[in-house]
Amino acid sequence: MSGILESLRVLLGGDPKRVPKKEMPDEVRELHAHKFSDKERIEAIRIELAHKEQHKMPEKKRRLRWAVLIAVNLLFVVSYYLDIQLLEGALTASRFMGFHMADLNSALQVMLAFKHVVINLLIGTATVFVLWWLLGGRTFCSWVCPYHLVAEWAEMLHEKLRAKGWAMDIQFDRRSRTWLWILFAVLAFATGYTVYETISPTGILSRALIYGPGVALVWVGLILLFEIFFSRRAWCRYACPIGLTYGLVGATSPFTVHYKLENCYHEGECRKVCLVPHVLDLTIKGRAPALELDVGADCTRCLRCVDACPTGALTIKYKGLGGLV
Ligand code: SF4
Ligand code: SF4
Repeated sequence: MSGILESLRVLLGGDPKRVPKKEMPDEVRELHAHKFSDKERIEAIRIELAHKEQHKMPEKKRRLRWAVLIAVNLLFVVSYYLDIQLLEGALTASRFMGFHMADLNSALQVMLAFKHVVINLLIGTATVFVLWWLLGGRTFCSWVCPYHLVAEWAEMLHEKLRAKGWAMDIQFDRRSRTWLWILFAVLAFATGYTVYETISPTGILSRALIYGPGVALVWVGLILLFEIFFSRRAWCRYACPIGLTYGLVGATSPFTVHYKLENCYHEGECRKVCLVPHVLDLTIKGRAPALELDVGADCTRCLRCVDACPTGALTIKYKGLGGLV
């Protein structure tokens, strides 16, 4: 339970807690103390990483994820153009084979704006809640959200420009996302309009794909330019209320990325690729307070860290419903 509360605190913008060594169990303290005695293993990892750097291979899980994301979004497009009513609507509100589905954040905004509970929306919201809870919450971000895909491509460009000194990575206070979440909820309630929907790059891109491009795409372009030149993945890290909503859903999800201290040599490859590296603070030398831990709720389950880790310290874990207690 304390693990879930800590995960929620970090999700809302708090800094990951540092547990003092004296409060860690003996076996964890011992493992931290003797971690770097295996010089041979450490040298082998160094050589392996240098080799990987020179012979870069495509990230298989990333390619699979992109394929899933494109397929889901294309399903909306194909259904619309062929009028087969398999998947109707857009990501924010849809019907899949007749079942109502609603993006949780949009549903919340609609209910706040109209100030009453729309029954169809409630059914859709419940379906989507259970689905994303089972799948990991922010899995929505990296496996479905169309903005995530373009932001990942922009991030690749950002990294290249940064290496040349042509871009910077300004860090903002992560609590900004929580404040924006509250602000948009209050605005919906006060104005009767789903204000966030008009500026949501997720909704704008989803609608543009299905119904054709509109002027709102300029806004998405501006966010991407900001991310490319000034702040890596800024929208998803510091602003998007949808990401926070799905993070809350996934806080107790049975699907997690799992960390094993014993296998970790703290070289930090995982943190380099992660768009929310604060959830991987536990991989920094001396930080993990237990032998095994689940990565926090802000994790999007993109699985890039699982591919990047040279020693198998991070793995996919499906605990099943029995593993939740
Ligand atoms: S944080 Fe928002 S924009 Fe980013 S991937 Fe998640 S839903 Fe999409
Ligand atoms: S912790 Fe791993 S799976 Fe989670 S967001 Fe970061 S890189 Fe992706």
